Amino acid sequence: MGQKSDSLIAYNVLEKRIIDAGFCTQCGACEAACPVSALHVEGEKVKHTYDCSKDMDLCPICYEICPHSEALLLRSLSFVADTPVKNEALGYYRKIVLAQAVDPKIRELSRGGGVVTSLLKFGIENKLFDSAIVSQVEPDNPAKPKASVATVPDDIMSAIGSKFFPSSVAKAYGSAVYAYGKSNIAFVGVPCHVLALRKLEAWQHKISNNLKITIGLFCFGTLSLNALLEYIKTKYNVDPSDVKQLRLSSKLVITTSKGELRIPMSEASEHILPSCRKCTDFTSELADISIGSAYPMKDWSTVIIRTKAGEDFFYKAVENGAINTWVIEEEPTVIERVMIAAMNKRNAGLKNAKEIEKISGYLPATLLRESEALAKTKIADIMAKNVKTVLETTTVSQFLDLVARCHHIGYPLVNQNGEPLGWITLEEAVSVDKEKRSHTTVGEIARHKLVTAYTDETALEAFKKMSENETGRIIILARNEPKKIAGVITKTDLMHILTQQ
Ligand SMILES: Cc1cc2nc3c(=O)[nH]c(=O)nc-3n(C[C@H](O)[C@H](O)[C@H](O)COP(=O)(O)OP(=O)(O)OC[C@H]3O[C@@H](n4cnc5c(N)ncnc54)[C@H](O)[C@@H]3O)c2cc1C
Ligand code: SF4
Ligand code: SF4
Ligand code: SF4
Repeated sequence: MGQKSDSLIAYNVLEKRIIDAGFCTQCGACEAACPVSALHVEGEKVKHTYDCSKDMDLCPICYEICPHSEALLLRSLSFVADTPVKNEALGYYRKIVLAQAVDPKIRELSRGGGVVTSLLKFGIENKLFDSAIVSQVEPDNPAKPKASVATVPDDIMSAIGSKFFPSSVAKAYGSAVYAYGKSNIAFVGVPCHVLALRKLEAWQHKISNNLKITIGLFCFGTLSLNALLEYIKTKYNVDPSDVKQLRLSSKLVITTSKGELRIPMSEASEHILPSCRKCTDFTSELADISIGSAYPMKDWSTVIIRTKAGEDFFYKAVENGAINTWVIEEEPTVIERVMIAAMNKRNAGLKNAKEIEKISGYLPATLLRESEALAKTKIADIMAKNVKTVLETTTVSQFLDLVARCHHIGYPLVNQNGEPLGWITLEEAVSVDKEKRSHTTVGEIARHKLVTAYTDETALEAFKKMSENETGRIIILARNEPKKIAGVITKTDLMHILTQQ
């Protein structure tokens, strides 16, 4: 195929960096956004069915829209940045609550809280939107998600439950606009799906005007269906055509005509998509509302309400009797687990992204880059003041209660005089055995390395200190009172500056 310059025709870069490098998660955003319908997601592959470079000298769309490119990240973040809370582990939000469907049938079918289904059903029944993008299953392949445009409550009910394989939901969003003529669409997807939709909005693509609300699911990763079926054929002698159902609980459960086969999660997770290994977003940080499990509570979901639009919609459903809520602070184990999962995913994703950059020379999408904007901003103007500190004599149990109430994952550690000693984080606290937590003090387990900056330094200097010391947070001191904490800065604060720019 005769090709024009790599940098001018986005497909050339998309093919090299995303598709051929194995980072495509088959969302179909490139297909929905392409102005000349040159792209089609088929099976587990994106096909370029027409050489767009013949007719175009320049087109940046598909690469920029792809959720796995570095483009448009900060602008995408700005859709949720106008919120009261910025949290290192969970992103921007207004409120976190526990919730469940009032309808017991929905709860039973979902095997979780059934909140997504109840919200969508409520929205369609009350004409808050005219359609919803959901993931049903292919009729002839019960393991394969089929992204579809739901227009009536029955469509929504038939999509209930999680499918742990890629779903082309952004492609279905494009069909809702072009083929179904829908103008008020609710969208459900995992974090990279939501990012693709936010990128369409950031690009001001015409189809993004039809988006009403985004519901993001928590996500640890998606498995490659073909690779997994090939594996169970070779290892367990199961013919793919005999697979009636694939389900994930603590194990991968495969139902065939001969009965059930249970495969350990460690074997299933070998088939996770390459993009998931460098992914840093667990809780769908860019969605209007994010929803995940509330383990160990059965039949409940954790709901993170991020935007005003999300809050209005969610509480309309609550007031009209579709959803029950409960206070998450009353269930400290739930919030602790969500924060640990988010933190672990972020740390692993950043580590793997660095490895990938070393090998390929290309940095897969992560959410912070140095920028001139940081050099122009004084620390005093952006640091958090009135900092909640933790005394070194506090026990680990007391500290975990504080985390459950305040939702922050790291706190400056201080001595009796209020002088900073280092940081104590959730990660260190949960590494202490449960039975030892009431008589172990945080002073015994905290990192005593003190990384500080002064109020009159710039945000860029703070960022450099964070990078050099491999930490996401530093303590800020005033030059005239260097033993007293004047404030703190986290990487989330720095990201906030960039989104505001
Ligand atoms: C791949 C994947 C990984 C997940 N990992 C975690 C995790 O590690 N921890 C956690 O707490 N929660 C995780 N979740 C979310 C969790 O499984 C539930 O989806 C969430 O708690 C909502 O529950 P619910 O009962 O409200 O959903 P329901 O009311 O059952 O509705 C589920 C909705 O999800 C949509 N959906 C199903 N599969 C997909 C898919 N593959 N892509 C896009 N949309 C889909 C359906 O359209 C449906 O509308 C994951 C979900 C998926 C799809
Ligand atoms: S025309 Fe379509 S395939 Fe070609 S670069 Fe633009 S978006 Fe990509
Ligand atoms: S936009 Fe979606 S379908 Fe297209 S290359 Fe990127 S991940 Fe794959
Ligand atoms: S782990 Fe990240 S890249 Fe993988 S499916 Fe989930 S959101 Fe997408």
